[in-house]
Amino acid sequence: MESTRRRKKSWAEPFKIKVVEPLRITTRKYREQCMKEADYNTFLLKSEDVYLDLLTDSGTSAMSDNQWAGMMMGDESYAGSKNFYNLVDAIGRYYGYKYVVPTHQGRGAEHILSQIMIKPGDVVPGNMYFTTTRLHQQLAGGTFVDVIIDEAHDPTNKSPFKGNLDLAKLQYWIDKAGAAKIPYISFEGNVNMAGGQPVSMDNFRRVYGLCRQYGIKVMLDATRLVENCYFIKTREPGYRERSIAEILREVCSYSDGATMSAKKDSLVNIGGWLAVNDKELFEKARHMVVIYEGLHTYGGLAGRDMEAMARGIAESVQYDYIRSRVGQVEYLGNLLIKENIPIVRPVGGHAVFLDARSFLPHLPQDQFPAQALTAQLYEESGVRAMERGIVSAGRNPETGEHNRPKLELVRLTIPRRVYTQAHMDVTAETVCEVWQRRSSIKGLRMVYEPEYLRFFQARFEKIG
Ligand SMILES: *Cc1c(COP(=O)(O)O)cnc(C)c1O
Repeated sequence: MESTRRRKKSWAEPFKIKVVEPLRITTRKYREQCMKEADYNTFLLKSEDVYLDLLTDSGTSAMSDNQWAGMMMGDESYAGSKNFYNLVDAIGRYYGYKYVVPTHQGRGAEHILSQIMIKPGDVVPGNMYFTTTRLHQQLAGGTFVDVIIDEAHDPTNKSPFKGNLDLAKLQYWIDKAGAAKIPYISFEGNVNMAGGQPVSMDNFRRVYGLCRQYGIKVMLDATRLVENCYFIKTREPGYRERSIAEILREVCSYSDGATMSAKKDSLVNIGGWLAVNDKELFEKARHMVVIYEGLHTYGGLAGRDMEAMARGIAESVQYDYIRSRVGQVEYLGNLLIKENIPIVRPVGGHAVFLDARSFLPHLPQDQFPAQALTAQLYEESGVRAMERGIVSAGRNPETGEHNRPKLELVRLTIPRRVYTQAHMDVTAETVCEVWQRRSSIKGLRMVYEPEYLRFFQARFEKIG
């Protein structure tokens, strides 16, 4: 049930804490040693050495008592588990798609979608790349082209819908490549790499309209679509009185299907899905899933995982929940804005992004300023963040050169329902401490570079 009546301004958590997990506080000397051993890549730290883990909001949510109860209702039959049908029902009810293929997580769905839809030489336009999404498109022989609006690349631009797709850029690619070479548009809600920036309903509607004219499909990356819907409700005229669930259904009605990393919006620790409305595509996806993930009624998941996901979907669209989730992120962002620390504006839905270019203007992008900043934050107080800059952007597969994104960011990602307001205060204090001594921060040199998704396992050393 959702109420749209006026409420107090506070976003206080609509839950109380039933189980706690102790945190370990370490010394600076110890952390410096840990960071060195992890070769200045926060992905290579041991989590037990981390105090506040803001690496990612992926699979790090706290589940509710209702979800945990659902875990006990796991039907672990190999085929036809009742939890699968509950999941299909939940996706049908809240997202509105007809056919569902469960996968172990988002990239499992991206893999299947890319393989069944992309032919070598195809072009896949999208509103800014995501690491795994683009890689699967490339591995299938496609070329990703970025058609997000220019504002998205400017961290100081305060437009309310910086995730929007630029229709003129899309038209350019339709004219240049030809509609037959564009299997679908890869359209992400609350664009992660842009700083968690939403797409407006108007943009979803127009993009779908344009694509229909050319027979091009629209495939959503629905990973953070619920958070996107919260911004539509609060920022877009005409949606204030509509429920999050209604807005979500409308957004999905402007698409032909979606891939989902349920580890984000859906409040679970593992899971994902691919959903489509086209029977023929569904048949192709169903044939693929048994090769790479598992039978089409479990897709690499236990029955209990599918049950937790089904219940998590219903919880994710509750207004009180989503308001406190986005509200907590905004709270941290506002603390940093007050201190004049350069962050991506407006504050996004799942994370606060530090603008490492402005934070460390003395470091050239080749010295990995965002990566260097994540190491400093960890050494300062055990806060673990993630690089989202030149390391994450990888290399151009044709030229072998670094991709050089305009945005060189550090992501402080807030897990859902996990940390308190006091933890946000500590995080802000940490960033302020590092900010005070920013001019003495040195750059990094990459000493080991994996071929794919290098940010996960790359190794660095300090320069000088
Ligand atoms: C996390 C994420 C994915 C990939 O999902 P995984 O569950 O990590 O495999 C895809 N798209 C976006 C926008 C994401 O944030």
